[in-house]
Amino acid sequence: MILVLAKGIGREQIESLKEILRQEGHMVREIGGVEEPVLAIVGKNYREPSYYESLPGVVKAVPISKPYKLVSRELHPDPSVIKIGDVSLGGDRLVVIAGPCGVEGRKTTLDIARKVREYGAVLFRGGAFKPRTSPYAFQGMGEEGLKILREVREETGLGIVTEMTSPGQADLMMKYVDVVQIGARNMQNFELLKSVGRIGKPVLLKRGLCATIEEWLMSAEYILSEGNDQVILCERGIRTFERYTRNTLDLTAVPVIKKLTHLPIIVDPSHATGIRAKVSPMGRAAIAAGADGLIIEVHTEPDKALSDGPQSLYPHQFEQLMRDLYVIAPVVGKQVDYAYLDKASIMKPRSAGARPPATVVYSGLPGAFSHKACLQFFGGEVPLDNCSSFKEVFQRVESRQASFGVVPVENSLTGSVHENYDLLLDNDLKIAGEVILRIKHNLMGLSDAPIEEIERVYSHPQAFQQCRDFLEKHPDWDLVSYKDTGSAIQRVKESADPREAAIGEGAEPIAGMTVLKEGIESNPRNFTRFVVIAKDESLPGPKNKSSIIYSVSDKPGALFETLRIFSENDINIVKIESRPIHSRPWVYMFYVDLEIDLAEERNKHIMDALIEKTEFFKFLGSYNRGSQEKSE
Ligand code: PEP
Ligand code: MN
Repeated sequence: MILVLAKGIGREQIESLKEILRQEGHMVREIGGVEEPVLAIVGKNYREPSYYESLPGVVKAVPISKPYKLVSRELHPDPSVIKIGDVSLGGDRLVVIAGPCGVEGRKTTLDIARKVREYGAVLFRGGAFKPRTSPYAFQGMGEEGLKILREVREETGLGIVTEMTSPGQADLMMKYVDVVQIGARNMQNFELLKSVGRIGKPVLLKRGLCATIEEWLMSAEYILSEGNDQVILCERGIRTFERYTRNTLDLTAVPVIKKLTHLPIIVDPSHATGIRAKVSPMGRAAIAAGADGLIIEVHTEPDKALSDGPQSLYPHQFEQLMRDLYVIAPVVGKQVDYAYLDKASIMKPRSAGARPPATVVYSGLPGAFSHKACLQFFGGEVPLDNCSSFKEVFQRVESRQASFGVVPVENSLTGSVHENYDLLLDNDLKIAGEVILRIKHNLMGLSDAPIEEIERVYSHPQAFQQCRDFLEKHPDWDLVSYKDTGSAIQRVKESADPREAAIGEGAEPIAGMTVLKEGIESNPRNFTRFVVIAKDESLPGPKNKSSIIYSVSDKPGALFETLRIFSENDINIVKIESRPIHSRPWVYMFYVDLEIDLAEERNKHIMDALIEKTEFFKFLGSYNRGSQEKSE
């Protein structure tokens, strides 16, 4: 049962209400309601909702219709994000867990760990206790294996995911492990579930071989009911009549789980298929279906693996899978971040002189695309601040009020955001990174507002341009420009006028608003490139792209002389654009993006040659390319 409490109710009153409910035998949870505080009560005996509504401070009592309570979306409408060290599972960045089926020895395990870390895994898997079908098969290395896993964490920074097979291993798990896995065969081992519920570490709960989704969620409920909310569900294939593959991957479970529960879900295509060649296709499909991540078996010598060799990817196959996910993820609003673990260091207070953690500023309201770009690049942990113009973003970074700023510079359909190119020229800031977002526009209106009644639509002018085909079908609508899509949606929510709508992302957190029409952009291949700007902060990770601005003298061949430098040094030009110089009519600056790290010492001669052949030259920074759609 969910109890919605009165707005502005005092702490004392909430506490006494909780006491009354506890005395009646209910388990009581406080959930931070956006507008009003909410209590969730779970127990064996409920009374009629009217009884709870008669208690002081309770406005409304809503029964939860499902047999599972704590895991249900009804109780907790926002998705849960599970924190594992520096990794957040269930947010905007995909989490890929990789490693061998079982820990078999120190060298092999460390070799595999180094490889999967390099290719983008952020957590390491490996069983030390292996529940095997045959009692004669390899049963795992036990505590020796856990010690090797600890070494993996120390050397690579990868958090450790390993299976617990009996409650007696709880102390070992506390000592060595970051995420405790409950294997498919143990999904309904209720004593084990209760035990991991009490451990309080994140739990990876695999779906049982023959379990329905409801049974699986009931098992998760056991863990939550012991007070541990950090549960990650893992679809790993179920037993069907089909014997070609080891199991049948039930990908439908992904959107179903997303609807029924707030808990994140990942997919294990290794155990689902049992066949190496089938792992990557199903891994790609799982991400396209909306999974929050994958768990993949990888082995440097699968032929020698003591378990599950035939389904283990070679490291180079894992690398390719990650590159494919890199391309697929933005389509479903997510990102693969190769510098995930390295970036984490800048989010923490830095020891030398105890500098505070980095802060990031963007322009617009929460929910705007710039906000999403920040979340995808930095994750949800970094302190974010917003302001009302791009100019202010630059100013705040320039004055060191913020460590980083995130601004859009280019859209695949409508071209450059000139204001920001001009600001890059006028300010003394560096580009430190880039992130590319797929821009999907929805027509957002008040819940229950029929589309036929719309008269006025609010949005950013770029969004109107990107939705031209759709808007041409409604020539009678008034289009009102707003500074960003987030504030346009907010304006419609506040006006509460059913004749008004806004174009922006289907910002689900905005209560009371609904998607009247989804995906109205003229071309679905609609991407916006954002750059991360910094004064003196740098970001870890490889740098394979540089941006420069220059002008050349007004004589024949001057531009060609600069282009010759790129050609002679075999440098690919990703973008070149000319922009007028404000104070000098008909004189132009060239904005150029190159596939090279110009700041590297061995490329100094190139930078020198460019300075020599240009009248004005500004190096904007080198950074890691935000998209790998092009092959290397
Ligand atoms: C494993 O992850 O190695 C494993 C044994 O998985 P499952 O429990 O899904 O069979
Ligand atoms: Mn396995």
